[in-house]
Amino acid sequence: MVSHLFFYQLTLIALVWLCVMLQWVWPSDSAACPTPLAPPPPRPKRHRAPKLFAGLTTKPPCDACEHATDPHPQAPSAPPPRIALTRGRRRHVDTSMHFCPNPDCTYRGWVGWGNLRANGHPSGGPWRQLLCVVCRCYFLETLGTLLHGKRASVDLIVRVIACLAEGLGIRGTARVFEVDPNTVLQWLVEAAEQLRAFSQYFLHDVRVRQVQLDELFALLSAVKEGEVSAAEAIERLERSPQWVWVAMDPESKLLLAIDVGNRTLAMAQRVVHQVAQVLAPDCAPLFLTDGFREYLTALLTHYGHWVQLPRRQDKGPSPKPRWMPLPGLLYAQVVKTVRRRRLVRVSHRVVFGSLEAVQQVLAACGWQINTAFVERLNLDLRQHVAAIGRRVATLCKGEDGVRHQLSLFQTYHNFCLPHASLHQPLPQPLPTKGTGSAKHWRPSTPAMAAGLTDHVWSLREVLLYRVPPWP
Ligand SMILES: [Zn+2]
Repeated sequence: MVSHLFFYQLTLIALVWLCVMLQWVWPSDSAACPTPLAPPPPRPKRHRAPKLFAGLTTKPPCDACEHATDPHPQAPSAPPPRIALTRGRRRHVDTSMHFCPNPDCTYRGWVGWGNLRANGHPSGGPWRQLLCVVCRCYFLETLGTLLHGKRASVDLIVRVIACLAEGLGIRGTARVFEVDPNTVLQWLVEAAEQLRAFSQYFLHDVRVRQVQLDELFALLSAVKEGEVSAAEAIERLERSPQWVWVAMDPESKLLLAIDVGNRTLAMAQRVVHQVAQVLAPDCAPLFLTDGFREYLTALLTHYGHWVQLPRRQDKGPSPKPRWMPLPGLLYAQVVKTVRRRRLVRVSHRVVFGSLEAVQQVLAACGWQINTAFVERLNLDLRQHVAAIGRRVATLCKGEDGVRHQLSLFQTYHNFCLPHASLHQPLPQPLPTKGTGSAKHWRPSTPAMAAGLTDHVWSLREVLLYRVPPWP
């Protein structure tokens, strides 16, 4: 009995001691925090220090640079003397927009050098004949344009091209004008070639402060008459989705480059290469793109230089030179996070240059970092280029076909279409003939805003323009 009592007491003491020891050794949360229901303080966000770009050890190769032929052939250094009319009657036909095409003539390619005379309309045709008085070579005023040697009327050809530029498909255009679709296609191909030369002639040494780059998903199909079956085309489509790449100046709305291809580094480089060709050599604008990472390498290829880094230690070999972005290069990305086809977050990332410098460029226009202008252009593209509009069955949907239509769109957008946000105030209000209020504004195209031309071009004017061989 005694032993039992003693045993119980011993056990009680041991338990009490254990409890005390536990309390002391194991400090409970409830003892430390008097208010256990209060939420824990938010953890301070880890600020990742912006990683400085370390540079590349090799210069990224660019296909377009390697295979480049000079896009702007230089004129011979010594121009021939200008020819002034000294005798005979006054000439009424303006030949100042023309040049002699004869490769053996010293006056070849010199526009408005006074060596040309109008020679009337041979056999009553619509076009005038011109004569170079130096080499006695006769040629038509349409030589080198789409309209040269065409039997169809000029009005018809111009309207067909205008319809294509406004976004009607090739078959639709063919039905409207009762022409064979293949004829329309042929005219488009020829017009595209001419317009490419036209764009190249006018778009050079452009100075811009910003460039926005974007890719637009385009559903192209390789379906041509009987060539590939629809099933085969769909299979191909799945393998190689196509993208329309656009580079534009958001201030003047000038389209600097437009191309079609896959979403790859090679293609990004090709587009940046085209932009670099159009811009003045010393012009390094602020580039704004989406989060596609290959732009970084592409921009670096054309806007980079070798930098010899300083030695960090006294001994050992000096560090290898690094390919770094040019000091003036600014580049920011607009990164969009899409979940279940819904935009959930937009964030900005400054890749080259400082945020202050980027904001300073944008502040001149009162803008934030954005790619809104080039995205807005995507809508125009869908409306004006039938081949990339959705669910459109049109001829000429292959890659080359789209490229032709894009050349047409580029020139039409830059030179012919006045843009609502660019209109310029008239020095004096122009009274209208009717009872309407006076005109205060004059329309302006992107090319006018960029200072490349002084008037709104009509498509007819563009198609009749003989592009000289050098600027
Ligand atoms: Zn000549």
